[in-house]
Amino acid sequence: MLPGALLCLLLTASASLARPLIYRELSYTTPMTTLTSSTAPSIPTSTIPVNNATSASDLALLLDGNTQFRMQQAEQRQSLPDQPPRVMFIGCSDNRITTDLIFQSEPGSSISHLNLANRFSGKDPNSNAVVTYAIRDLGVKHIIVMGHYGCKSIQAAMSRQPQKIDKIVQIWIQPIIDIFSHSRRVEIKKLRSKRRASNIITATNIDSDAFRALVEENVKASVKNLMRESILFAEYHKKNFKSKKVEVFVHGLVFDEQTGEVKDLGVSFGPPGQVVPKAKAKMLDPTPTTTATSETSSTASSTSTTPEPSQTT
Ligand SMILES: [Zn+2]
Repeated sequence: MLPGALLCLLLTASASLARPLIYRELSYTTPMTTLTSSTAPSIPTSTIPVNNATSASDLALLLDGNTQFRMQQAEQRQSLPDQPPRVMFIGCSDNRITTDLIFQSEPGSSISHLNLANRFSGKDPNSNAVVTYAIRDLGVKHIIVMGHYGCKSIQAAMSRQPQKIDKIVQIWIQPIIDIFSHSRRVEIKKLRSKRRASNIITATNIDSDAFRALVEENVKASVKNLMRESILFAEYHKKNFKSKKVEVFVHGLVFDEQTGEVKDLGVSFGPPGQVVPKAKAKMLDPTPTTTATSETSSTASSTSTTPEPSQTT
C-alpha cells in the first residue's frame, strides 16, 4: 500500500470512531475478558465486577482472557500474513486506548513505543533505539508521534507543585515543563500570565485551551527531535541523499478521547525532495442513531415547522 493511502486509511478509520461512550466503556470500565467475549466459545470466565476487583482477580481476568484468545484466535494466528509493519507509533503510556482500536487496524500491523507523554529524544536511549530498530530492521514507512488530549503527564508538567511529583517523573517531563515556561503560543502565554498574577499552583483543567495547546506543542517537539536527533537526521543530510534507501515520513497527531477524533498537527516531514503524503479523514455520517433521532426530532420540532429531520447521508 502506498504511504499516502496508508495514512489516509488510518485517518479515515479514526474519523469513523467518534463515539465517546463506546470508548469510555471499552477503555475504562470493561474487563479484558468482555472485549473478546462476543464470539467466544463457552468457557468458564470470571465475572468479578471491576470495582470490587482484587489483585488476584485482576490476574485471573487476564489469564481467562488469554484462554479465550487462544481458543478464538488459533486459526487466525496461523493465517496472519508475516509482513513487516509499515507504521510505528510513539505514544503515551497513560493513553489506555490502543492505536489498533483508534484506527481499527489489524493487530500486528504497527509497532509502538510508549512512554510518559509520548516523548522522543535523541538523548533517551530507549526511544532512540526503538526508532532506529524500526527504521533499519523493520523498514517502517511512517513514524507517528501520537499525543492525547487527556494526558496526565502534560497536566503534571503544568503543575506548580513539583514536590508532589516523583523526582524521576520530574526529570522525564522537564522538557515539557520548559515548553510550558517558554512557549509563545497565545493560549499558553495567557494561562502563564493568569497563573502568575493569581499565584495559582493547582493542576490545570484538561479541557482548557492552554492544556490542549501544550499537548500539541509537546507532540511537535518530539517530531522536531526526530528530525534533528534520530538516525533520520544523518540519513536525510547525507550528501547525494538517495531517497530509496530510507524513506520514512514522520507525523504529529493528537487523539481526542472525548470525540474519538485524531487531529493532524500538520508538522509532517519526510525524505529531502519528496512530497509528504497528505490524507484527510472522511466526514462522519451525520445520521443520528435511532435513540438520538427521536430526541433530535423532538428538539427540532420545537424550533422548526419541519415534521421530521431528514436522514442525510
Ligand atoms: Zn498521556
